Amino acid sequence: MPDLIEKLKMLEERSSSLEPNAYERESSLRLAQAYADWFIDGMEDRPSYKAGNPDISRLAIGDKQLSLDEALKVFREEVNQYGINAASGGHIGYIPGGGLFLSAIGDYLADISNEYAGMYFGSPGSVSMENELINWLKGLFGFPDYAVGNLTSGGSIANLIALTAARDKHKIKNDKIQSSVVYLSPQVHHCIQKAIRIIGLEDVIIRDLELDDFSRIKADHLQKQIEVDHSSGLNPFLVVASAGTTDTGAVDPLNDIADIAEKNNLWYHVDGAYGGFFILCERTKNLFKGIERADSLVVDPHKGLFLPYGLGAVLIKDKEALFHSHHYTANYMQDAADPNLPLNPADVSPELTKHFRGMRLWLPLQIHGLDPFVACLEEKLYLTDYFRLELEKAGFKIGPEPDLSVSYFWYETNECDQNEFNRTLMQNIHLDGHIFLSSTKIEEMTVIRMAILSFRTKKRTIDSCMEMILRCLEKTKTQFGIA
Ligand SMILES: *Cc1c(COP(=O)(O)O)cnc(C)c1O
Repeated sequence: MPDLIEKLKMLEERSSSLEPNAYERESSLRLAQAYADWFIDGMEDRPSYKAGNPDISRLAIGDKQLSLDEALKVFREEVNQYGINAASGGHIGYIPGGGLFLSAIGDYLADISNEYAGMYFGSPGSVSMENELINWLKGLFGFPDYAVGNLTSGGSIANLIALTAARDKHKIKNDKIQSSVVYLSPQVHHCIQKAIRIIGLEDVIIRDLELDDFSRIKADHLQKQIEVDHSSGLNPFLVVASAGTTDTGAVDPLNDIADIAEKNNLWYHVDGAYGGFFILCERTKNLFKGIERADSLVVDPHKGLFLPYGLGAVLIKDKEALFHSHHYTANYMQDAADPNLPLNPADVSPELTKHFRGMRLWLPLQIHGLDPFVACLEEKLYLTDYFRLELEKAGFKIGPEPDLSVSYFWYETNECDQNEFNRTLMQNIHLDGHIFLSSTKIEEMTVIRMAILSFRTKKRTIDSCMEMILRCLEKTKTQFGIA
């Protein structure tokens, strides 16, 4: 017994640094705060993109302990330095990220309190907060009260959960898989194809739908294809529409597709991961008519509400379909399994223990209110107009008027291979790195793509982006010997 007491005393001492005291906490926070100030206040002076690779040896976990100061130095030099600065307003490529400060505070507090947001029994407060956020989203998108939902780590997992429910609602298993049909736009986000494979539906028939000149699904083609498939004895069961495609920001005709899905008894899934929150804007809200008729919907607050990465959301009307795969009770969880309690996040998600991610959305919404978010989204639409006008003035060709805030442009030339010219222009823009843009292909033509969604992208960002583009255009012309 004395040995045991001695042993415990020694172990407590050895592990005591895991609980810093108030003084140590304060000095850590001061260093973290100084880092955050350096990062945020100096952001516009640093490149949005810098090629390079970290020195992995500095990131490896070795025997040597670091001070927080030293660790932050490694973080700055090896992690924050290279690649795309996703928190920057100068990130206008792919789909930009955000990084609201109050979300970081929310994460900090969620981590300090480590609320268990999986089951209502253990954490009625945090689970209720997440359920209220889901209720708020249901209101925003016209989903009924009985719909259920989940805050996920991102859009991909949210889509996965929705497609699982679609599969289970239509009992797509065994022999039925190979004769079942899914209707997708060729522009659908690739996480949909991934999800189809993950949920065991690799062998379903996938129909690529025809698109109009604005890259939106042609609803009449969908109807015809379903009829053809029905008459061949196949089993159409799922159609996916995008409320803002990733590549060109196109919003599919949501209401027309809803009509067709309803008439043909298809599960109707809408992926609004990029564009869903533009429903808040006066200018674009009509595009979203019919979204309320979807069986399931995905949005991504870490895109359209400017949160740091780590928050998607899914809404699903058919709770039983969702429960089929996700609801499970284990013996050791029996205290928490009371069916009269409010919905458990763990019953509608593959996750059990998870990050209490509601706090990072709840806090900014409560403190800022919704209006600055709406204004910021509207600003993105008008910045897209402004950018396109400036590009045209500078002699670039621009793509068709976009539905939302993704568009593209290219330099037209017949003095050399145009695609090669624009690829080189893209490389020069990446080498410059001041603002980050990405490229894509529109019908075999290489174009440079802009996606404006960061809350930090402002008119001055677009102005300095134009300066960069013109710099890079001159350089590219010189490289190609064009006057
Ligand atoms: C980003 C995106 C996704 C994937 O979401 P993640 O949050 O990156 O997992 C899905 N669909 C669309 C339309 C997207 O833009």
